[in-house]
Amino acid sequence: MNISTPAWALPLALILTVSLACQTNSSQEEKQENSTDSTTQVEPPPPPPPTVPLHYIMGKFEPSKDSNFVKIAPAYTTKSNIYLHKEAYKAFLKMHAAAKEDGITLRILSATRNFNSQKGIWESKWNGSRKLSDGTNAAEIADTNARALRILEYSSMPGTSRHHWGTDIDLNNLNNPYFEKEPGIKVYQWLTANAARFGYCQTYTPKGPNRQDGYNEEKWHWSYLPVAKEYAASARQLLKDEDIQGFAGAGVAPNLKIVKKYVFGVNPECLD
Ligand SMILES: [Zn+2]
Repeated sequence: MNISTPAWALPLALILTVSLACQTNSSQEEKQENSTDSTTQVEPPPPPPPTVPLHYIMGKFEPSKDSNFVKIAPAYTTKSNIYLHKEAYKAFLKMHAAAKEDGITLRILSATRNFNSQKGIWESKWNGSRKLSDGTNAAEIADTNARALRILEYSSMPGTSRHHWGTDIDLNNLNNPYFEKEPGIKVYQWLTANAARFGYCQTYTPKGPNRQDGYNEEKWHWSYLPVAKEYAASARQLLKDEDIQGFAGAGVAPNLKIVKKYVFGVNPECLD
């Protein structure tokens, strides 16, 4: 150090140097921030982690041995040994009682179906032992994509049915014309006016601009949204076409974009 430099000069020089360095850094940071703003879009926050494991979404469980599921009492169903998610059942009982007061009887024809149960339905249609609703033998359709598409008009591939979730029920009759005249029309009118009060929504409304993909209209199929939405949110993150395996005809699932078109091809009012 030069002997002529005053004693106070060194600390001052250090302060100036540090202060200048800080200014340089902060202006560089500003530049970086500005360039980030102008070149990239703000990412949406990541979705919350899935709450329902994939094996539940795909129906790979036994509802009679699961404490989240309850057996439907004989008064409410034409079947024996059928189960619903307990929350969906609680809401159904309230809906059933309200309908009864208005002179409408609701009967559950189908509720929870696990993977194996859906596999039985799908494969019987695939191999022709069970005809499609218009009498077609799907096994006679040689092109496997076309064969699957015909079955998919009303039946899900195993692993992709909302009936796996225990949140969805088929009510009173499995044919649309039943609900278009007496006595079914009264049931349908009651449901369209009141089911939402109990959390239920018709997932398969007529196809059109609002619902371009998925199964045909099903006036009998109703979904309990407070629980189904949780399953759907988890399915969005976890379920892929490549997971759809383990039954005859499963190989065409990726060609047909089953998850996008069928799992999420529902009435938009029943989505998130
Ligand atoms: Zn159904």
